[in-house]
Amino acid sequence: MITLRSYVGGEWVEGQGTLETLVNPATEEPLARAGSAGLDRAAALDHTRRVGGPALRALTFAERGACLKAACDVLQAKREELIDLAVANGGNTRGDAKFDIDGATFTLASYATLGQSLGARRVLVDGEGVQLGRTPRFHGQHVLVPRHGVAVHVNAFNFPAWGLAEKAAVALLAGLPVLTKPATSSAMVAARMIELWVEQHIFPTGALALLLGGAGDLLRHVGPQDVVAFTGSSDTGQLIRALPEVVRHSVRVNVEADSLNAAVLGPDVEPGSDTWDMFVRDVLRDMTQKAGQKCTAIRRVLAPAPLAERLRDELVERLAAIVVGNPAHEGVRMGPLATAQQRDDVRAGIDQLARDGRLVHGSASLAPVGAPAGKGFFVGPVLIEVEPGAAAPSVHAREVFGPVATIVPYTAGAAEAIEIVARGQGGLVSSLYSDDSEFVSELVLGLAPYHGRLFLGSARIAEQSPGPGTVLPQLVHGGPGRAGGGEELGGLRGLHFYMQRTALEGARPVIDKIVG
Ligand code: NAP
Repeated sequence: MITLRSYVGGEWVEGQGTLETLVNPATEEPLARAGSAGLDRAAALDHTRRVGGPALRALTFAERGACLKAACDVLQAKREELIDLAVANGGNTRGDAKFDIDGATFTLASYATLGQSLGARRVLVDGEGVQLGRTPRFHGQHVLVPRHGVAVHVNAFNFPAWGLAEKAAVALLAGLPVLTKPATSSAMVAARMIELWVEQHIFPTGALALLLGGAGDLLRHVGPQDVVAFTGSSDTGQLIRALPEVVRHSVRVNVEADSLNAAVLGPDVEPGSDTWDMFVRDVLRDMTQKAGQKCTAIRRVLAPAPLAERLRDELVERLAAIVVGNPAHEGVRMGPLATAQQRDDVRAGIDQLARDGRLVHGSASLAPVGAPAGKGFFVGPVLIEVEPGAAAPSVHAREVFGPVATIVPYTAGAAEAIEIVARGQGGLVSSLYSDDSEFVSELVLGLAPYHGRLFLGSARIAEQSPGPGTVLPQLVHGGPGRAGGGEELGGLRGLHFYMQRTALEGARPVIDKIVG
C-alpha cells in the first residue's frame, strides 16, 4: 500500500505515527495511507509565505495565467489516470469522475485566459478614479494588490480535483501562494495532481504546498496577511471562524458550507413539455450524480400541488431504473458514498426527513451490483414527499448529503414558493423552471437575497444548460446564511478575496504611473 506524502517546505514529507487508511468506498479495499502527525505546519506556512509569495508576486498576471494554462495541460494529459483514481478512491462513476476532473481543468483554463487578458500588470485597478480637489491634479484611485501572506485552502471530500483547482487557480492568479489541504478520505486525486505539477515545475518554488492528513494545529499559525478558504460542513466552518488566531489577526475567512438547494416548478409548466423534461432531468441528475454528494444538488423539489403526483410518479419510475453498485462495474449509474461515516449520517438523515412526510422511493434492501457482499458504503436513491402546507421542519433544516430529495407541494403561487424556499435560511443555488416571465421575475426578486446563484430553467436554454448543479468559473459560487456566507469564483471578482483593496490619494500623474 502506498503512503501519500505532503509537499511542504519544497520537499515531500511523510507523516509520522498512526496513518489514516484511504479505501475504495465500493469494496472497502485499502488503497493508501496518509497522515500529518509530526509535520511542522508553522514552518510549512512560513516557507509558502516567504519563498512562494515573492516568487509569485514577481510574475505579471499574464505570466501567472501561463502557469495555470500549463497546470491545465498537465491534468488533461493525465486525465485517464486521474479518472481511474477518482473511481477507485472516490466511489465515482466515470461520469462523476469526469465531472470533477474536467471541472478542474475548465476552471484552470478560464483563469489562465483571464490572466492573459489582464496582461503584463501586477496591480488591479478597481473602478474609476475620482477628482478630489479643485483641479484634476488631486486624484483618488482604488487599487488591488496581492496580500503578503499565504492562502490556506481546506477542501471537502466530494470534489478532490475541482475543489483544489477552483480555489488554487484564483489565489495563484491573484499572486498569493497556496497551502492546500484536501479532505483525507478522498485525497488520492489531489495528491496526484500536486505531484504532477511539482514534477513538471509548473509553479514557482514555494507557491503551492500540500498538506495531507488532518489539519492539526495548521490554522493556529495564520497571520494578518493570510486568508483561509474553507469548504465543508457548517460545524467545521464555525469552528474555523472562531479560532482565536483568526479572530486576533482579522484573518479573512471564506466559508462554503451546507445548502438546502431548491428547484421550483412553475404552475405554467405542462407535463411532457421541454421545460418539464428539463426539470425532471435536472432533479434526477442532482440526486444521482456523485451519489448526491454535491453541495449544489437539489434537495427540495417544489411543485404546484396539482402537478405533484404526476411528478412524483415520473421521478419514482426513473429512479427505479438507476443501477447502484461498484462504479468499476459496467452499467453502474450510481456509486457508493465516500465513507462509512457519510453513509451512517445519510441513513440517519433519511430517517429524520421521513418523519416529516412519506418515503415514496428507496428501500433498505439494496443489492449493489459488482460489490463484494456486505461491503461498500452504499445508499440507494431516496425520494420523500410531504403534504401541502406541512411545516416539515427537518426538510428545511437538515442537509442530507446523499442521493436524497423531498417533494414539497405548494398551493398559493409565487409568494408561498418564496416563503418555503427561504426556510432553508440561505443557499448556494436554487433553480426556477418556468416559461412565464412574470412568475420568474417575482421569484427572482423574492429569492435572490437568499442565494449566491439562481438558475432560470426554461425551454429556451434546455439544449445548452448543464443544470443548476454545475458551478461555473464565470459566476459566483457561495451563498448567505446556512451556505456559509462565502463567495468564490465569479471571474475577476474571485481575485479580490486574495488581494488588498487600497485607496491611493495623491497627484494624478504619480497615480497614473503606478496603475499603468
Ligand atoms: P468537514 O468534515 O467539515 O471536512 C471538510 C474539510 O475540513 C476536510 O478537509 C477536513 O479534513 C477539514 N477539517 C475537519 N476538521 C477540521 C478542523 N478542526 N480544522 C481544520 N480543518 C478541518 O466536511 P465534509 O464532510 O468533508 O464535507 C461535506 C460538507 O461539505 C457538506 O455539508 C457539503 O454541503 C459541504 N460542501 C460545500 C461545498 C460548497 O462549495 N459550499 C462544496 C462541497 C461540500 P479531514 O478530511 O482530514 O478531516
